[in-house]
Amino acid sequence: MQKRTLIIGCGLSGTVLAERLASVKDEEVLIIDKREHIAGNVYDYEDKKTQISVHKYGPHVFHTSIKEVWEYLSKFTKWHYFMYRVKAFIDGKEVNIPFNLDSLHKVFPKYLANDLEQKLVRTFGFNKKVPILELKNTDDKDLQFLAEYIYQKVFLGYTMKQWGVKPEELDFSVSARVPVYVSLDDRYFQDTYQAIPLLGYTQMVQNMLTHQNIKLKLKTHFDFKDCKLNANSKYEYKDFGEFDRVIYTGAIDEFFNYTLGRLPYRSLDIVFERFDKEYVQSTAQINYPENYDFTRAVEYKYYLDEKSSKSILSYEFPCAYEEGKNERYYPIPDEKNQKLYEEYKKLTKELKNVHFLGRLADYKYYDMDKTIARALSVFAELN
Ligand SMILES: Cc1cc2nc3c(=O)[nH]c(=O)nc-3n(C[C@H](O)[C@H](O)[C@H](O)COP(=O)(O)OP(=O)(O)OC[C@H]3O[C@@H](n4cnc5c(N)ncnc54)[C@H](O)[C@@H]3O)c2cc1C
Repeated sequence: MQKRTLIIGCGLSGTVLAERLASVKDEEVLIIDKREHIAGNVYDYEDKKTQISVHKYGPHVFHTSIKEVWEYLSKFTKWHYFMYRVKAFIDGKEVNIPFNLDSLHKVFPKYLANDLEQKLVRTFGFNKKVPILELKNTDDKDLQFLAEYIYQKVFLGYTMKQWGVKPEELDFSVSARVPVYVSLDDRYFQDTYQAIPLLGYTQMVQNMLTHQNIKLKLKTHFDFKDCKLNANSKYEYKDFGEFDRVIYTGAIDEFFNYTLGRLPYRSLDIVFERFDKEYVQSTAQINYPENYDFTRAVEYKYYLDEKSSKSILSYEFPCAYEEGKNERYYPIPDEKNQKLYEEYKKLTKELKNVHFLGRLADYKYYDMDKTIARALSVFAELN
């Protein structure tokens, strides 16, 4: 008899498992999601008024150096090759992020920029990414000044908005990972593969779910109270019958009914605005570390090079996660939360044939490629 698996969550994590179990192992899969759409947080759709694709849960640019992940996704989508270029609005100028040699010349007078450039190349070599902590630790007063400038101007304001912490609560060792790029490379990522699915993320996920063994049920909220392990070691779930295993990609604390407490998240209020002009910004993403209450403004038509006389942008206003009010976006990675997560993880060990993965179940920020790599490795373990 074919094995039956119940997958909770139709984001990338759940979808990869559904696709692999159905097409490689010829197993039956029921994948459910509480939302009314597939694709989880990578869900995109066409804005009817501008006919431009937008990303409902914040802008997503695919980038990876993991060949296996690239090749796997390439089975389900063609790509629009796209190298991401991000600017930050600093001292009234749009400068490259990561801060590079070109940025130096944008914000400093020529004599100072030249001097800093020479010192950077002499000290670290060309084409090197240097964490600002390393700059701060040099004996050179000018390089120390540069480290402090980047910390203050690029990092501090953005991070305070993003995480809602006061400056004194910021751990400098974390912030100091922000690099200065001793290079003219102005790409945000240096990964081998960088692209946007040509017909969008939702279509890519749709293509992954086409196998006849996969059944999909949306607007279905999983509650483990409705799921029981029966005498045959199978999970019986409400109206859906028996399953040999359960794969859970929702929030780990919710799964255990918050018995040990709640894991906190940062959320975003994402505000979309349409414009009756062809372009609003000089590039897809502009960060505002020092100005306004939003962290970044994203002009979506750049992603797929969509042509329109109109444009649509999103502005992200960070805020605390509140259940029922907004979405869980970023796990807050500090010692206390990690400890609580580890306590929940211990509870998962007691469950037979229930597997936890994904950004919510692992309580970890994963880029899309890491999400997929993790799902592929869970599948390999199931094998
Ligand atoms: C603002 C933002 C921007 C990002 N930008 C990028 C980027 O540019 N590049 C990049 O590589 N990565 C980016 N990421 C990361 C990317 O979004 C994740 O890697 C990916 O979405 C994780 O997929 P997932 O399946 O683990 O989680 P999700 O996409 O969250 O899927 C989980 C699904 O489970 C469902 N669910 C949860 N609980 C239940 C329940 N009890 N019952 C039923 N259904 C349930 C949810 O509705 C959801 O659909 C970004 C993340 C954020 C927050």
